[in-house]
Amino acid sequence: MKPLARFGKIAIAPLVPKFLFSMLMPTPSAFHCLVFDLDDTLFPERDYVFSGFDAAVRHVAGFVGEARLDLATRAREIFESGGRGDVFNQLVAGTPDLPWPADAVVRMVEAYRGHVPKLELAPEVRALLRRLREDGRALGVITDGWLDVQRRKVAALGIDSLVDGVVYSDALGGRDAWKPSSLPFRALEAALNVVPAECLYIGDNPAKDFLGARNAGWRSLRLRIPGREHSAVNAPADRDADFHADSYSGLAQMLLSTT
Ligand SMILES: [Mg+2]
Repeated sequence: MKPLARFGKIAIAPLVPKFLFSMLMPTPSAFHCLVFDLDDTLFPERDYVFSGFDAAVRHVAGFVGEARLDLATRAREIFESGGRGDVFNQLVAGTPDLPWPADAVVRMVEAYRGHVPKLELAPEVRALLRRLREDGRALGVITDGWLDVQRRKVAALGIDSLVDGVVYSDALGGRDAWKPSSLPFRALEAALNVVPAECLYIGDNPAKDFLGARNAGWRSLRLRIPGREHSAVNAPADRDADFHADSYSGLAQMLLSTT
C-alpha cells in the first residue's frame, strides 16, 4: 500500500483494499475446483416436493380411494400458493368429507420423507458438468438437509458419476454442520485435495450458501433462476456472492469462458 500514499492517505486509504480486491479477483472460469449446492442449484427442489406429494397421497390411497389423484394436484396447488411445512394439514383440513385416518398427516409426512424420489437432471446441467470435467476441473457437491433424504436425491439424479465428491453436511455433525458452517467446505477440500483459493461455490440461497463459502475462505456464485424458492430474495451485502448468473446457459458461459 505504500506507493499509493502519495495520493493522500486519508481520502484514498479506504478505497485501496477494494481496488486491490477487484484486481486480484479471478473470473469464475479461473477456478479449478467448482462445487455445487444441490437443491434449487443442480435441480429444481419443487421436483422433489411434487414427487413426495405423489408418494404421500399414494400412501393413504387405501383410505381416501378414488380422490387420490385430485389430492396430489391439490397438494401442489397449496404449495404453489405459498404453503410450506403445513401442506398435508391444509390438504386434510380442506377435504373434511374424505374418510381420512386420524393420523393422516403423520402418515403422509413419513411417506414424503421416506420416498424414493423420481428426479432427472436437466440435459443442460448434465452437459455442463460433463464439459467442465473434460476441461479438467475438479467438481463437487456440498448439500445440507437430512442425510437419507439428500442421499436419495443424489442417487435419483445420478450425480455421483458426474462429480468427484459429494459432501453431506448432515453427516459431519447434524444441523450444526449445515451451512453456513465451514465444516462441509473443509471436508470437500480434504476429499478433493484442493485449497480454498482455487474453489468456487455455486449456490442459490442467500441465507447461508455464500456466507458459508466466505467463512471457509472460498469465493461464491449465486445462481438465481427466476421462479425458484429463493430467487426473489435480495441478498444483504454481507451475505451476497462474488458472482451472479440467472440461467444455466449464463452459468456455463461464465464457468467455461476462456477470455
Ligand atoms: Mg439450495
